[in-house]
Amino acid sequence: MPFDYHRPATLEEAWRLAAADPEARFVAGGTDVMVRIREGKITPRALISLSRISDLARIAIGPTVVIGAGVRVAELERNASIRHALPVLSQAAALLGSTQIRNVATLGGNLCNASPCADLAPPLLVHDARARIATVSGAREIPLATFFVGPRASVLAPGEVLSAVVVDPPAPTARAVFLKQGRVRMDIALASLAVLLETDGQRCTRARVAAGSLGPCPMRLTETEAILTSGTLDDATLARARAAAESEVRPISDVRAGADYRRHLAGALLERAVRSLLNGAER
Ligand SMILES: Cc1cc2nc3c(=O)[nH]c(=O)nc-3n(C[C@H](O)[C@H](O)[C@H](O)COP(=O)(O)OP(=O)(O)OC[C@H]3O[C@@H](n4cnc5c(N)ncnc54)[C@H](O)[C@@H]3O)c2cc1C
Repeated sequence: MPFDYHRPATLEEAWRLAAADPEARFVAGGTDVMVRIREGKITPRALISLSRISDLARIAIGPTVVIGAGVRVAELERNASIRHALPVLSQAAALLGSTQIRNVATLGGNLCNASPCADLAPPLLVHDARARIATVSGAREIPLATFFVGPRASVLAPGEVLSAVVVDPPAPTARAVFLKQGRVRMDIALASLAVLLETDGQRCTRARVAAGSLGPCPMRLTETEAILTSGTLDDATLARARAAAESEVRPISDVRAGADYRRHLAGALLERAVRSLLNGAER
């Protein structure tokens, strides 16, 4: 089915085009949108590309880290400032798809697609990231944890654009890791987990755990976090946290894996992540 293709240079122009055609859809790298069009799952009358809007492609590292929604996944993987400020995000970016996909796919597309398996969501959720949403009438920021509302559904209303993701710099003692289990090396996740820990001797003073492909949308595992910070972080605490992770996730069975296996993966990835952080293998 043919469709019109627009490449506005400003958000204002993008909004004008969107208002003129309610059937139009935004596109960034197109690695999700074009596949869905080809499969006949969506039939937009027009695509409004966000790729020429330079404001969306900025990275600013100051009192907060602001990453434009149009920043490409390859840039998240390689950019020295991002690797330094949020190494766990670079780790996840490096595991997303192939080189060809990473060169065109964007941060905003990954989040707005709102797939349960979006690889960039868990590392941002453990950093309590905020989503900056631009609308014709102004901008607002919301916790990324409230951005996803279900499989392929976000809080974005028609015409709203995710303009950036905002992260407060982590404490110098914070360390985080992202683990992803696919059927093969280059695959979407059967399960993924990001874990961030701040420790003081044997105690864990702050824990953040976020999961992908383990529920209807990327999610924080708050009960697991509470157990990790409940006392000395020893083998017994870790075993309780592992059990909590397995019961807290809400996986489905699909062509890639059964729900029981995914539940098992949640616990196994949690234990592996925590042990690697405690061993100082990750920053
Ligand atoms: C072969 C292949 C392998 C893949 N492997 C992985 C993988 O391992 N892990 C993974 O997480 N994903 C994977 N993906 C999915 C996809 O590449 C990523 O989700 C990618 O980050 C999407 O970004 P994009 O810019 O291409 O999104 P697009 O396709 O351009 O857009 C996706 C959705 O987001 C909307 N959108 C985009 N930007 C904005 C914005 N700023 N504001 C509002 N709405 C917006 C679009 O309207 C659309 O609904 C893979 C895809 C393919 C084809």
